[in-house]
Amino acid sequence: MSGILYLCATPIGNLSDISRRCIEIFESVDLIAAEDTRRTVRLLNHLGISKPLTSYHEHNKREKGAYITGLLKEGRNVALVSDAGTPAISDPGEDLVRLCIEENITVTSVPGPVAAVNALILSGLPAGRFSFEGFLSVNNRHRHEHLESVRNDRHTLIFYEAPHKLRYTLADMAKYFGGNRRIALARELTKLHEEVLRMTLDEAAAYYEERSPRGEYVIIVEGAAEKEEAAWWSGLDCVEHVKRYIDDGMSERDAIKQAAKDRNVPKREVYNEYIRKHRINP
Ligand code: SAM
Repeated sequence: MSGILYLCATPIGNLSDISRRCIEIFESVDLIAAEDTRRTVRLLNHLGISKPLTSYHEHNKREKGAYITGLLKEGRNVALVSDAGTPAISDPGEDLVRLCIEENITVTSVPGPVAAVNALILSGLPAGRFSFEGFLSVNNRHRHEHLESVRNDRHTLIFYEAPHKLRYTLADMAKYFGGNRRIALARELTKLHEEVLRMTLDEAAAYYEERSPRGEYVIIVEGAAEKEEAAWWSGLDCVEHVKRYIDDGMSERDAIKQAAKDRNVPKREVYNEYIRKHRINP
């Protein structure tokens, strides 16, 4: 009979947030698969637990996935832990879960901290309906497509972000959501310097002009108000509309295609207008 894969949530800062059940599972399993073994060793040392560890991360998930499912099929029990928080939330754990399901291996969870949920409940923004958006891509086009796809969502949005990209992300969000959109920036959750800033996107940009972002962030964004559902480009003419997309990193061809789609007019019409005005006034 196969063993069990336990998805074990670990603290996102404060080590006392480990659950009693998680400690019991760590003590009972044959192996702990960790996204960052050094970090998990520190946690295990703190708990006084000594256990065989193996790494399982983005860059070895294919080989390690096969290795771990092999052990599970032999009847061993394995605990999976991420860098911090809940495995499979913005980490490769989801691939291992899928693999286990395909192989008919039992997967169960040992719940605990998730940065996204903790930030949401501290944000003061509506928590009744929300979506988790994870990290924005570093690829410009994907990033803009992502922001575009959620700009009119009425529910609260949750993003993860690293400190060195925060300013850049706030600027991109202001472009798509408007500078008046309310946000909460939650950093260092459960740690000594936990901080939740509640402000607008414009205020956040001004705030971080004078300070360096520090620590890992969760950005909670208020959903679009009813009136915002008017298209963001409604005040722009066709050429300005295309140029805005080009400024955002799209090719001329894609920008024309997207503007035509937004306006629900033939591509050719936007193209002709763009070429005509652009040639007169490049
Ligand atoms: N699996 C984790 C979870 O359950 O939240 C998240 C892993 S993801 C790779 C790491 C991101 O989570 C960070 O970049 C940051 O956005 C967020 N995060 C993790 N710990 C945090 C903390 N203590 N305070 C604020 N954000 C945190």
